[in-house]
Amino acid sequence: MSRSFDVVVIGAGPAGYIAAIRAAQHGMTVACIDEWKNRDGKYAFGGTCLNAGCIPSKALLESSELYHRAQHEFKKHGIQTGDVAMDIATMQKRRASIVRQLTGGIAGLFKANKVEGLVGHGKLLAGRKVEFTPVSGDVETIDAKHVVLASGSSPIELPIAPFDGVQIIDSWDALEIEAVPETLGVVGAGVIGLELGSVWARLGSKVTVLEAMDDFLFMADRDVAKAAAQEFQKQGLDIRLGAKVSKAVKSKNNVTVSYADSSGEQSIDVEKLIVAVGRRPHTDDLFSDDAGIQLDERGFIVVNESCRTRVKGVYAVGDCVRGPMLAHKGSEEGVMAADLIAGEVAEMNYDVIPSVLYTHPEIAWTGKTEAEVKASGRPYKVGSFPFMASGRAKAMEQTAGMVKIIASKEDDEILGIDPDTEDLQRTIHAHPSLAEAVHEAALAVDKKALNFPNK
Ligand code: FAD
Ligand code: NAD
Repeated sequence: MSRSFDVVVIGAGPAGYIAAIRAAQHGMTVACIDEWKNRDGKYAFGGTCLNAGCIPSKALLESSELYHRAQHEFKKHGIQTGDVAMDIATMQKRRASIVRQLTGGIAGLFKANKVEGLVGHGKLLAGRKVEFTPVSGDVETIDAKHVVLASGSSPIELPIAPFDGVQIIDSWDALEIEAVPETLGVVGAGVIGLELGSVWARLGSKVTVLEAMDDFLFMADRDVAKAAAQEFQKQGLDIRLGAKVSKAVKSKNNVTVSYADSSGEQSIDVEKLIVAVGRRPHTDDLFSDDAGIQLDERGFIVVNESCRTRVKGVYAVGDCVRGPMLAHKGSEEGVMAADLIAGEVAEMNYDVIPSVLYTHPEIAWTGKTEAEVKASGRPYKVGSFPFMASGRAKAMEQTAGMVKIIASKEDDEILGIDPDTEDLQRTIHAHPSLAEAVHEAALAVDKKALNFPNK
């Protein structure tokens, strides 16, 4: 007799494992299937985020930032260290250990919440049946009252620079480099290019980033992008905009990358080349042709605003559906899907999903950029407060950048995120704290900033 569950989730990344746990908390029987295999040959829950994304990248950002600060900032504080050296093997061991602890933690959470974690491949068949191919053992067909597809995404490969795992690498390989390359090329100045470019530049690589667009950080506010570009330049990241990459030719020790920009044909020689030009939804062998699932022209599973697919009882969440490819967006969709399956009312506000680049300085935003507000024609006012004027930022030696708030001239709404600037103006922030800059920027919207001259 085949097993049956109230909910079967395919994929145990931050979208899938959260959906599974939430569904189990509603008292349903739940199985969560995942096939992720790490480079050490071990299977692990947690998907891209925990194994090859958010968590390992933040571990390396932290290590490399500490190293960089020890080299460049400690002296100012009066700390004498002598020569500071970086042991890459220890840094990588720490990264791997954090990943192991957190992915093991999900297995523990599954147990605690009575979610059946199944290791192997899941495939949706017609009639809400799921074919489960375990890593060892026989194929099984599972009956599911509801299915949540949470299969995630994988890096986009450029045909002119196919991944080889050694010289031309994706973001996962870039997290597991064992020796600092003398020179490193990055195609794509997006989130991954800037985060991982920063890591290896801080550790001593000469990093060149080739970005196809003419505008730097085109998705961010222009003032923020301008300030960020200056900071990255200071840190030694050589970012070349408007670079159309045409060829990547490998020799024994180098990759020669050819590109054209406004000054004509150019090329760079690098020891390794990271290609980080975005990710694509991963739906390989995820459903049978007669399962009724539809993909859009970019390969995302088609869902409505409630993450329901066209098949009754089948939901899809996370990177495999439209919207920003962010862990917290996927997790929130997982919660919504589980709540809807449990018969509760649930919805998501896609306008307020925050974006963060964990570079130095960190860059974060939510709601609308000034350009978007301008284009909408809505009269607006702007307040900004530079960290240069923040006591806490000075004490931390972290004065780059600013807080910027854009609000409606008509009703004071902070555009895209709902509350009024007056609400923020009336909040009390601990002193000294970086959050005070948010308070001051809200005051600056009405030319009431207290610790910085109003413009
Ligand atoms: P995934 O995490 O990709 O998980 C999908 C899982 O499904 C995988 O384990 C896969 O093996 C499994 N799977 C797929 N198909 C099947 C199948 N048929 N059968 C069984 N299993 C299957 N986002 C942030 O919000 N913050 C960050 O700081 C951040 N940093 C990142 C850094 C890097 C280097 C990268 C690459 C990404 C980063 N992201 C970050 C993005 C984040 O990792 C993704 O948005 C998130 O992991 C998506 O979650 P998901 O559950 O949809 O998919
Ligand atoms: P991205 O979309 O952030 O950036 C890709 C960049 O590559 C863009 O600037 C694009 O213009 C450029 N590009 C595309 N094709 C190119 C080409 N042929 N030549 C040169 N440049 C080219 O994608 P990513 O950096 O690969 O990250 C993938 C996803 O992972 C993102 O959606 C992001 O949300 C997520 N992520 C998030 C975080 C975070 O939240 N901190 C960190 C890493 C990754």
